[in-house]
Formats: sequence, C-alpha cells, structure tokens
Amino acid sequence: MEKKYRYFGRFSFHWFVLLAFVCSLVPRAQGWSKEGHIMTCQIAQALLKPEAAEAVRNLLPHNVDGDLSALCVWPDQVRHWYRYRWTSPLHFIDTPDNACTFDYSRDCHDQHGLKNMCVAGAIQNFTSQLSHYTEGTSDRRYNMTEALLFLSHFMGDIHQPMHVGFTTDEGGNTIDLRWYKHKSNLHHVWDREIIQQAMKDYYDKDMELLLQDIQGNITDGIWSDDVTSWKHCDDQRSCINKYATESINIACKWGYKDVGVGETLAEDYFLPRLPVVEKRIAQGGVRLAAILNRVFSSDQETEVADEASHSPT
Ligand SMILES: [Zn+2]
Repeated sequence: MEKKYRYFGRFSFHWFVLLAFVCSLVPRAQGWSKEGHIMTCQIAQALLKPEAAEAVRNLLPHNVDGDLSALCVWPDQVRHWYRYRWTSPLHFIDTPDNACTFDYSRDCHDQHGLKNMCVAGAIQNFTSQLSHYTEGTSDRRYNMTEALLFLSHFMGDIHQPMHVGFTTDEGGNTIDLRWYKHKSNLHHVWDREIIQQAMKDYYDKDMELLLQDIQGNITDGIWSDDVTSWKHCDDQRSCINKYATESINIACKWGYKDVGVGETLAEDYFLPRLPVVEKRIAQGGVRLAAILNRVFSSDQETEVADEASHSPT
C-alpha cells in the first residue's frame, strides 16, 4: 500500500482545488455530509498546539487562508476521478453482516481483498506519511498536503457509525427508506439527514450555531470530563481500531436497530440519535487534533508523556 500511496500527487495542487470546487457543485452522498466534515475539522483546528497549528497552516494552499475545514470534503470530491479512484475504498469498512465487531485483519481490505485498503488502514498510512514532516522538506516521497487532507477527512469518516457497517447492505446504502417525507437511505440518514434536521429544527439552519453547541460541550459541558480519555492514545494502531469498533457498535445499537427497507423514519428515530451524531463529530475532531499535535510535535517523547500524564487512572 505504501508504494501505491507514494506516487499519487505530482500535479499542481491549485489545479485540482479548482476542479474540486467545480465538482462540489454536484451533490453527492458520501461520508459525513459537508457539514459533518467541516465541523470535525473546525473542532480539531481550534485544539491544535502552536507547532501543529503552524505545520497545518504551512501545508494548506494559500487560497483557503489557513482554514483546514475548507478542504476537509476534498477527498469525497475526488474519489471517483480516475487519478484518485484507488482511494474510494478508503472511506469505509465493510464488516460481516450482523457480527457487530471489527477485526482489522479480517475486515480491512478492499473488495478484491487487498490488505489495508479501508479507512482504518488509510488513517494509519497518512499519519505515518505526515510523521516525515518534522524531518524537513527534503523528503519528497510524499505529498504532505494531500496526506493532511486525507487524514483529516478519514478521521471524520471513521467516526460516522455507518461507515463501519455491514457488507451486504453497503453500510446502509441499499436500505432505502423515507426520512420524514422524502426518500433517503439509512447510510444517508447518518451522513446527512440527522445533521440537517437538527440544523433546521434547532439552529435556524446555521451550522455555526450547531458547531458552537458541540464545542461548548467539549470545553465546558457534558463531555468536558471525557475529552482526556477520548484523545488518550498509547498506540495509534490500536486506537484507530478502537474508533472503528465504537462505530460498528453504534451502527448496531442505534443505526440498524428497528429499521427495515421501505420504512419511514422520523422524530422517534431522530431525537435519541442526534446526541450520538453530535458526540461522534466531537470525538472525531478531538482525536484528529490529538493525532496532529502528536505528529507535528518536535518532541514526540514529551508529547506522549504529556498525553499519558493526563490519562484517567
Ligand atoms: Zn468520505
């Protein structure tokens, strides 16, 4: 996989940012909705320590003015382009139907069985690419900007519970149903509908207000005591596996539960699941920040010790 990842970025970044923008005008339904990814990245960027904040600013193209979230949807926009088609399996994990577990060696592969080609493998790979950043700019094997964007996007995807779903129904994509009055599918409900419904019902259709609520709950609210344990990580590989396991557990407990093809989902489904979606966005953001803080720290030992000293006893 390393080899394949290595050669994918040789042409002008600005050129494909422009094309990505054109593509973004075409609506599509993959990954957290645009809002889910934007919020994940805004939460993360606000939690960066100075060294990581500077590295992120350096890696972003000038036209986004230092705003990581402006490009966090980019991997969804390019996944069907010929050049990036190989990244398509990296957005999700298919687990065995009804098993409700994730096992990296069993589940992390593409449809042809190629190992590591899943969202958990991608996070691991792009994190290790970024770890070369502190070695200086002489290492040109990797496109650090793309690695940052892919990592930031996939940390959102792995926290979207239906991105670690069952194989046969493609993470709920083939479970067609109605969301209130319009047609949708179960995957789409978790990508987009719940967030949109919340914005419509409670936030005057303003994502900023929803984001402020989530950030308030992280810093000084219902999750403020949990944040340290969310981001605690001694071994990145097992942490990523944990995030995927959390997602499939939630998919079973909240996503698939009591849902059948052709049903109508409305308030009874929406209300208990909104806090789950908000928490997953919060966790994705907090953990993305933790990874970036670790990977861009010039003193990795101190960083690990610092994390450990804050872990719950
Ligand atoms: Zn995605």
